[in-house]
Amino acid sequence: MPTPLIDLQDIRKVYGGIDAPEVHVLKGISLSIHAGEFVAIVGASGSGKSTLMNILGCLDRPTSGRYVFAGEDVAHFNTDELAWLRREAFGFVFQGYHLIPSASAQENVEMPAIYAGTPAAERHARAAALLERLGLGTRSTNRPHQLSGGQQQRVSIARALMNGGHIILADEPTGALDTHSGAQVMALLDELASQGHVIILITHDREVAARANRIIEVRDGVIISDRANGQAPSPTDAPKTLQAIDLRQRLNAGSEARGAWKGELVDALQAAWRVMWVNRFRTALTLLGIVIGVASVVVMLAVGEGSKRQVMAEMGAFGSNIIYLNGMSPRPRAPLGVVSLSDVAALATLPQVKMIMPINGDLIGVRYGNVDHTMYTGGNSIDFSAIFNWPVVQGSFFTQADEDAAAAVAVIGKKVRDKVLKGVPNPIGQYILLENVPFKVVGILAEKGASAGDSDSDTRIVVPYSAASVRLFGTHDPEYVVIAAADASKVKQTEKAIDQLMLKLHNGQRDFEVTNNAALIQAEAKTRNTLSLMLGSIAAISLLVGGIGVMNIMLMTVRERTREIGIRMATGARQRDILRQFLTEALMLSVVGGVTGIALAFVVGGLLLLCDVAVAFSMVAVFGALGCALVTGVIFGFMPARKAARLDPVTALTSE
Ligand code: ADP
Ligand code: MG
Repeated sequence: MPTPLIDLQDIRKVYGGIDAPEVHVLKGISLSIHAGEFVAIVGASGSGKSTLMNILGCLDRPTSGRYVFAGEDVAHFNTDELAWLRREAFGFVFQGYHLIPSASAQENVEMPAIYAGTPAAERHARAAALLERLGLGTRSTNRPHQLSGGQQQRVSIARALMNGGHIILADEPTGALDTHSGAQVMALLDELASQGHVIILITHDREVAARANRIIEVRDGVIISDRANGQAPSPTDAPKTLQAIDLRQRLNAGSEARGAWKGELVDALQAAWRVMWVNRFRTALTLLGIVIGVASVVVMLAVGEGSKRQVMAEMGAFGSNIIYLNGMSPRPRAPLGVVSLSDVAALATLPQVKMIMPINGDLIGVRYGNVDHTMYTGGNSIDFSAIFNWPVVQGSFFTQADEDAAAAVAVIGKKVRDKVLKGVPNPIGQYILLENVPFKVVGILAEKGASAGDSDSDTRIVVPYSAASVRLFGTHDPEYVVIAAADASKVKQTEKAIDQLMLKLHNGQRDFEVTNNAALIQAEAKTRNTLSLMLGSIAAISLLVGGIGVMNIMLMTVRERTREIGIRMATGARQRDILRQFLTEALMLSVVGGVTGIALAFVVGGLLLLCDVAVAFSMVAVFGALGCALVTGVIFGFMPARKAARLDPVTALTSE
């Protein structure tokens, strides 16, 4: 006697137990099935036939008893090896067909081969050939709901045969079919049996059972009869069907079938896309979180970066070697210190100082015709243009002679010309009233286009220092002093030298303040960074909300597709395949959300640019936000995916 293919010894199955009453469904089933047999298991509804079939097909484990498959105790198989056995040895045909509703007939048939790692071309050809053979050649692109019951059952038989289908487990395959379709399906099973497939057919219909070579009758979880029907198959009728199943291979069942991941990835992406498309409204709503999150991260960083660059450019426009010196209160409520002209003269002797220029200025009333304005007017030396790198574009700068004579002459900024002398064809030679003193306009400064803080550089009026002191402000003390360092790379050292000399001149009183453009830029950048950080965290929160959206959608999807997960497991998917599939879906959701978010960010950025807001997109922000979205998707998709992977195959299959 050869080793039986399947050998059950005293198999028992008990449901319930802990919180529910125990239900003894199988009460000691022993039976052996050999290669080439066509067995019918008959019995009334509720007698335990489906339970027995699930155990035979390794979808379920018995509570006690031994199941020996081709000489090996199945109890020693881990979940991956059981999946391998389902994939390589068994083919399931269910009463309810159990096809994946969103996939076409062809895709349904191909599924077991995807998990087996069959190359795509071979897979397509084989599935097409099987469908052709079962008379469904023209139906391969139809989805299950577009097929009749009989056609769906034939698709599921094709699926069972996809990886060989050495043992076909058919649970009431004709139960839901009309007589004609039922007869067709039975004829098919007959044919497969004659070709050497082991057929285990479960039915409550004696007429259907009569087709088998052996009929086993089950009642209330025990076998009450087991008899041959017609002539038993001779060994010649039973070709070595199971040669292809090499049980030693199961040791590799956990490792990757070569190339399997590629087919699986494509399948997972297709499945993910289908599900997303079918539920596009729901998906779009839930993805809004990620879309808005990514878009706001990208836009906010772009705006922050844009304004930072703008400020840097503006401040840099005055030269990075510029140092400012002004008086300050040494203590709260103490009077403001004064940097005097003698201090200036002393500082001018420092070797680190290239140029030094006191400025005596303030906001004052400016009038032309009968229109009044308030503008910043400063008394400066003739070094003004050189120190600020700020040329005159029309007319000329005042001269040393003007300075010496305290002449009432003015050089005006671009905006002063535009506002005060609006419509005047040639402003040079015109008189404007500064604090009611007429000043003659001699030159117009080039446009700086820069605005630091709230004062606009281009609304500046420049007059000789002496004229400002005598005619406008009544004091010779400078408001502040501008110093150009000799070496732009040694601004810090220059500042230090100034600081030390000033301390000495002021008898150790620190009633002055030294700042420079670089420091101002840094301070400005710092406040803007804080702002960016704050905006960034708001954006991060919306990403988090997006992630929760992904989790929500994935949990719904897992619940809605529990049956599909069961079908995939029955056709040989391992836990990790299911995990990977749902992670792929989560990832795909976040990619779609992330890419949409980036597109939205570019649109918003474009609109902001149109509104004259400085925007600077950085690749780091774009890819960073996308990366964050992906990571969020994976993190929040993991829990639902793991939940799916850990489902029990039978529970999943029988779920509604
Ligand atoms: P059949 O396929 O012969 O109609 P089943 O094997 O489906 O019978 O079920 C046999 C018995 O086991 C039934 O009485 C059913 O109520 C019970 N049963 C099946 N699955 C479960 C379960 N998960 N929990 C509790 N009882 C179950
Ligand atoms: Mg049943």
